[in-house]
Amino acid sequence: MPDPNGFLRYDRRLPARRPVPVRISDWREVYPPAGEELIREQATRCMDCGIPFCHDGCPLGNRIPDWNDLVRTGNWDAAVESLHATNNFPEFTGRLCPAPCEAACVLGLGGQQPVTIKQVEVEIANAVVARGGLRPRPVPAPTGRSVAVVGSGPAGLAAAQQLARAGHAVTVYERDDAIGGLLRYGIPDFKLEKQHIDTRLAQLAAEGVQFRTRVNVGVDVTAEQLRAEHDAVLLACGALQGRDTPETPGRELRGVHQAMAHLVAANRVVAAAGEGRPALAVLPDGTPIDAAGRHVVIIGGGDTAADCLGVAHRQGAAGVHQLDLYPEPPTSRDAERDPWPTWPWVLRNYPAHEEGGDRVFAVAVQEFVDDGTGQVKGVRIAEVTVEKRDGRRIVTALPGSERELPADLVLLAIGFDGTEEQPLLAQFGVARNTRGAVDARPDWQTDADGVFVAGDMHRGASLIVWAIAEGRAAAAAIHSYLGGVGTLPAPVDPARQPLAAR
Ligand SMILES: Cc1cc2nc3c(=O)[nH]c(=O)nc-3n(C[C@H](O)[C@H](O)[C@H](O)COP(=O)(O)OP(=O)(O)OC[C@H]3O[C@@H](n4cnc5c(N)ncnc54)[C@H](O)[C@@H]3O)c2cc1C
Ligand code: SF4
Repeated sequence: MPDPNGFLRYDRRLPARRPVPVRISDWREVYPPAGEELIREQATRCMDCGIPFCHDGCPLGNRIPDWNDLVRTGNWDAAVESLHATNNFPEFTGRLCPAPCEAACVLGLGGQQPVTIKQVEVEIANAVVARGGLRPRPVPAPTGRSVAVVGSGPAGLAAAQQLARAGHAVTVYERDDAIGGLLRYGIPDFKLEKQHIDTRLAQLAAEGVQFRTRVNVGVDVTAEQLRAEHDAVLLACGALQGRDTPETPGRELRGVHQAMAHLVAANRVVAAAGEGRPALAVLPDGTPIDAAGRHVVIIGGGDTAADCLGVAHRQGAAGVHQLDLYPEPPTSRDAERDPWPTWPWVLRNYPAHEEGGDRVFAVAVQEFVDDGTGQVKGVRIAEVTVEKRDGRRIVTALPGSERELPADLVLLAIGFDGTEEQPLLAQFGVARNTRGAVDARPDWQTDADGVFVAGDMHRGASLIVWAIAEGRAAAAAIHSYLGGVGTLPAPVDPARQPLAAR
């Protein structure tokens, strides 16, 4: 029986982050492990309220009160089992999820701080490793059916694991040189050290999943070949089409880049260093890209922008400005606008924001300024207001508010326009919709029979927790399409949206 008064006895507490000067001198994760005493205390704050809205806040339907109580009582093995029943990769979500479950925690209704659900989750994931590692699950007799998964991000990997555990032969195709999708080279090591991916991949491989890297489906193998070799195909190619701003004067200048080009180059250097190989941060065309000694301007306010900020400081930037089109959000929930248990619009301070840099809100870039040689030397910005009219975003600059910021490296982190236009789409006979995503029928099939879609490719740029949830649900649909025995868990359907008040 959970402790009904735990939240009255203990305040919400998180482990201290590593000190800024220490952590920006390396690429290790920002959070040290919490320690058993702290985490059991924090799990005690969950009263098992009876109608746990956190379940609905979490797209995976994680059984949060169950494992909070198991942690409270020190029953770690059962907590590990309970968490893995709904989540293939708690080591990723526990580190990286923005935790919509916490916004939906019932404690928030009474003005209390929510339970530290995400921190409990990551400590359960850490406990697995401390208890002898991730053991492969016994796999049933082969069904004789085979599935190709295209794309090795969290959606593809979750689907692959579910299908392999149901006895299907699964091959994951990835065009990059390593498995993991955005977890591998998109998200920096200071948020997710890559040994966590490798440990999980070893488990998938031991359960029978085959991995084929450096295979660009649609180019190195055709859709026709893949369909001939496999009984079903899952497309999980992500939403990696970076949004651009071609209309802004000076966009063509040297030093103005897509944020992802910079992040991927930086993360590849860290990966090479881990393997003892020297490497330079270069763009795909070989152009060097490094923030060392530079004045950096990051345009955008989301995860990608915050990751660029952390990278810029670790590379030794001279100064960083992060620009956001929207006004500074409030520090606490505006209940009129976003009533509990929905996800509130509030100021989110990522660990990278503690490390330095200036955030500038309610501004838009008017021009990238040329130094006379074709290299950017500044960014001219204006204060703006933003309103929605007839579903369209209208940005109005305030007259006389223009000023220039120094910039010799500008990173565009202004979002994604859906999945990339690439040969694979036409070959499979699937099209991008108006959002750049690929639609799924209620059974996760695309317009092409036997070709399924999941993750960001279906949903548009989203979150790891949604990618895992969609991967699990698409695997359930594929299992049923292949005539598999019984059913697999399907936490979401293709139309499922986050909790919303309107
Ligand atoms: C910089 C950044 C930081 C982020 N931080 C967070 C965070 O902190 N928390 C969070 O929850 N979410 C975060 N996200 C979002 C999260 O990473 C994504 O929602 C998630 O990775 C989507 O998973 P996915 O499996 O759908 O696709 P992806 O992870 O994008 O993987 C798709 C894979 O498909 C491969 N592929 C594409 N086409 C082909 C082809 N033709 N042949 C073979 N392979 C192909 C790609 O190379 C890629 O590896 C972040 C995103 C970015 C960009
Ligand atoms: S996956 Fe995210 S939403 Fe689900 S319990 Fe973990 S932190 Fe909460």
